Amino acid sequence: MTKIITAEDKIDNNSRLLDLKDFNEVFEFVKSSVNSVYEMKRAGLSLMLHGMPTRVGAYHVLGSNVIAINSILLDLVRKHSTSNYEYNSYLFTVLLHEYLHSFGILDENTVRNMSLRLCKKFFGENQVITVMAEDPLKIFPQIGLVRFDKFENKFELIKNFDNSNQTYIR
Ligand SMILES: [Zn+2]
Repeated sequence: MTKIITAEDKIDNNSRLLDLKDFNEVFEFVKSSVNSVYEMKRAGLSLMLHGMPTRVGAYHVLGSNVIAINSILLDLVRKHSTSNYEYNSYLFTVLLHEYLHSFGILDENTVRNMSLRLCKKFFGENQVITVMAEDPLKIFPQIGLVRFDKFENKFELIKNFDNSNQTYIR
């Protein structure tokens, strides 16, 4: 039994999304949304930024703990975002998609439907993020025109990703 997400919770979730500041904060929010909608959780993932062909948004290496986000697309999204909410919505939906794969759910349609259903329940039917979960090009049509076709050899590993189980002295 999953808990009820009220209309007030949805408003709250949208305003929280707006305020998130980095990869870690967005990912923590992804994890808590998946836990509240699907009661699923896991830890220990690593995040890499990787320059890739624009047809690839991100990938999860099967059987590994690695999620890689396409840094070429992410830069374009940053450039075309009209608000932090739009940028974070993109990051959220991409991380959500790969996080769901990391549970061993391989089927693309299943993951897409689960992502869309989560956004509807967690943020609301008509929110930008829910449209983005359906198709990011509806929000960023300009990006559909960009062609980049190679996999770069460089990776950037995001430090301290998915480390919420650890404690730090500040
Ligand atoms: Zn996928």
